[in-house]
Amino acid sequence: MSKREEWEALGFEAYDAGELTLYMNDDFCTHNGTCVRAYPGLFNPKRTPWFDPSVASTEDIARVIEMCPSGAMRYIWEGEKRVRVMFEPENQRSAAYDGEKLVGFCQLQMDEGDVWIVTHTESDPAYAGQGIAKRLVSKVANAARVAQKKLSPRCNYAAKVLTEDPAFRELL
Ligand code: SF4
Repeated sequence: MSKREEWEALGFEAYDAGELTLYMNDDFCTHNGTCVRAYPGLFNPKRTPWFDPSVASTEDIARVIEMCPSGAMRYIWEGEKRVRVMFEPENQRSAAYDGEKLVGFCQLQMDEGDVWIVTHTESDPAYAGQGIAKRLVSKVANAARVAQKKLSPRCNYAAKVLTEDPAFRELL
């Protein structure tokens, strides 16, 4: 099953933005307003249409969508050169993709009350030097902050990233 089919089966709606297709699922949205604040005019839930891709470049739209901490907003951009990192609560992980190819993940156990356990982080050695593993842990940390959860890292790499960054220490 392709990512598009997987997301549509989960209830995501597709929105055309030229080169990029935005996928949105209200059931995942925590209404924290990150996307609205990140790029004025791009998203506005009080407006119809709520998404206006004409105000931003494809790169900026992709950048703002990647800031979504809940996994409610995602995208497919055929021919994109960058690796994208997103939060996938349905898989209890953050995940990095090169197109449709999974090139890294940071796995969680999210069923432990107010604490998410970080069990494992890995990235494809073929993508070494791109900071993917750190982006994966950062994505999990931002998701935990928005969901008001603490993190318990059982993965040494995640523990190092979370301990070294003062912005993340409050989550431990
Ligand atoms: S950034 Fe994501 S979770 Fe936050 S309001 Fe936008 S869609 Fe919802």
